[in-house]
Amino acid sequence: MNHEPVRKVVIVGGGTAGWMAAAALSEFFRGLVEIELIESADIGIVGVGEATIPQIRLFTGLLGMDEAEVLRHTHGTYKLGIQFRDWGRLGDVYMHAFGGIGARLGGLDFHHYWLRGRAAGVAGRLADYSLNETAALADRFAYLERIPETQLDGLVYAYHFDAAQFAGYLRRYGEARGVRRTEGKVVDVTLRGADGFIESVRLENGPVIGGDLFIDCTGFRGLLIEETLETGYEDWSLWLPCDRAVAVPCAAAGPLRPYTQATALKAGWQWRIPLQHRVGNGHVFASAYLSEDEATTMLLDNLEGEPLAEPRVLRFTTGRRKRFWNRNCVALGLASGFMEPLESTSIHLVQTGVSRLLEYFPRKGMDAVDIDEYNRRCTWEFERIRDFLILHYHLNRRSDSPFWVDRRRLPVPAELQRRMDLFAANGRIHREFDELFTAVAWLQVMAGQGLQPASWHPLADRLDRGQLERFLDNIHTIIGKEAQRLPAHADFIAQHCAAREKP
Ligand SMILES: Cc1cc2nc3c(=O)[nH]c(=O)nc-3n(C[C@H](O)[C@H](O)[C@H](O)COP(=O)(O)OP(=O)(O)OC[C@H]3O[C@@H](n4cnc5c(N)ncnc54)[C@H](O)[C@@H]3O)c2cc1C
Repeated sequence: MNHEPVRKVVIVGGGTAGWMAAAALSEFFRGLVEIELIESADIGIVGVGEATIPQIRLFTGLLGMDEAEVLRHTHGTYKLGIQFRDWGRLGDVYMHAFGGIGARLGGLDFHHYWLRGRAAGVAGRLADYSLNETAALADRFAYLERIPETQLDGLVYAYHFDAAQFAGYLRRYGEARGVRRTEGKVVDVTLRGADGFIESVRLENGPVIGGDLFIDCTGFRGLLIEETLETGYEDWSLWLPCDRAVAVPCAAAGPLRPYTQATALKAGWQWRIPLQHRVGNGHVFASAYLSEDEATTMLLDNLEGEPLAEPRVLRFTTGRRKRFWNRNCVALGLASGFMEPLESTSIHLVQTGVSRLLEYFPRKGMDAVDIDEYNRRCTWEFERIRDFLILHYHLNRRSDSPFWVDRRRLPVPAELQRRMDLFAANGRIHREFDELFTAVAWLQVMAGQGLQPASWHPLADRLDRGQLERFLDNIHTIIGKEAQRLPAHADFIAQHCAAREKP
């Protein structure tokens, strides 16, 4: 085992994944490790990852980036949640809003009181007890940690941003910290005879670049992890059969909404992501049920404003690499696997991949136990996100197209079934300790998709009907008033982080 320190890291690929890795490594390993990033302008980047989840703020915060500055440079907006339309049944609308819902009472989660209140006819919609959702629906936003003089959460938020501009921002950050960027197309990879580690990559115009650790950020193709190391791919399209997306930006009409929208269509769904200068739209669909032409026409017909570019089709297979780290190569971003952007998780998976790599950063010999642990944790994280996505599809009551009927009929992974059964019986929500989605997220999607528990925790019965009604009404009133006090999202952006230049 070679215990010498890693001296040189080579990142192949300069999309969001490559530059996030470069930015983080350059901040934490400055002066210790040489970092070279190779990217090819001819190949370009996917450039459609525009919606994030609140954990992104940990990444930008840890790297000392100023939030307003990030949003200014990326035409970014704030995001309080994702609104799902037509998912349970046609006409249904619910939100996976970030942040808390209601308040715990007597050690018991709020939703048990809500379930009992619903049965007693004294509870409103979940939205009434969520400041995030109430503010989102009123198109309002401000920084607010807590509702003053209460125990109720303030606003928990993420960002929408222009993905290409975000990659550019990260690039400037990384280069300022010593990352060397090399323009060129990798055409050949050399493996070391002894252990099959990657020794070097060769660029089309000649140079050979060697390193100790290689990070594959080359997108779906996985140039190093798959085309070279033949790691293998676990295909999840049985459960998540959408395998195409057609994306197009359009001009905005109406107020600047602080949330993403995901509208279920005949054989997939459409996203709407509001930015300062335009709206990002895309139609994710299953090609077994819908042609690319039909999907594109549906998307264009649904746009709220004039299209600002030609629609672009992207093809993918949902799943993950069998190993995220293989020999001296770690795959991040699309090279590591892909799940559709229904819960905006891809950039987050890059982030956790990077932070895990920092935690398990190797020596030249690459200890097998570290690699195994890294892979085990990534696998677990990918699978839990997969299950959460399947939940949205499986719990539907639509009968207007074969796609939705098939999704409902298909058995789900055992772990997901257990969670749904627990909730359906007594409203219990099981969540492992460092799982990404909160109990409140599971609650909103399970309830939003129409899963109604038969009962609730017996402790919720200790309030009499009048006490229960007052408890629920009180929270509803406080949240309604607080939301009205917030400024309009558009005004908040104009004041704090308006982009200075047109893109
Ligand atoms: C339809 C769709 C919608 C999405 N929406 C979201 C979302 O809302 N939220 C979210 O979090 N994520 C989303 N994602 C995912 C997000 O776009 C990606 O996770 C993110 O952009 C990371 O991409 P990447 O850097 O891995 O790959 P890419 O952007 O594809 O970058 C690949 C890089 O590798 C380089 N490269 C490839 N081959 C070579 C070579 N031979 N030599 C040199 N360089 C090479 C390219 O030049 C490029 O720089 C979405 C993805 C898709 C497909």
